[in-house]
Amino acid sequence: MPRTLPADDLLSATGVAACSRGAASTRDRCDTGEVLDLRPSCECCDRDLPPESTEAMICTFECTWCVRCVKTCLGGTCPNCGGDLQPRPVRPADRLADHPASTRRVVQTGLHRA
Ligand SMILES: [Zn+2]
Ligand SMILES: [Zn+2]
Ligand SMILES: [Zn+2]
Repeated sequence: MPRTLPADDLLSATGVAACSRGAASTRDRCDTGEVLDLRPSCECCDRDLPPESTEAMICTFECTWCVRCVKTCLGGTCPNCGGDLQPRPVRPADRLADHPASTRRVVQTGLHRA
């Protein structure tokens, strides 16, 4: 005789619900908390580095430089903190509406070697 086990049914239903909750929070994780400070220009030569630029490099403190200056002026390390520099990730355009790029230009005089 097959027996129905209501407790087991309840358990699996709860498991499914927990799984969908987990998936939803993973999808929205990028929208919570602090976002990267997308600075508008190179701190060395002051050239524009728009959010979609693939020539922007940042350090762990988000100091922002163009690839040319990283090579010719900075020697591959951030002059502010001494850390290494990595290509800045491009923020998808549909995310810029909620998380716009910074407009505060930072320029340091005396760094750039023309
Ligand atoms: Zn530059
Ligand atoms: Zn730095
Ligand atoms: Zn420079």
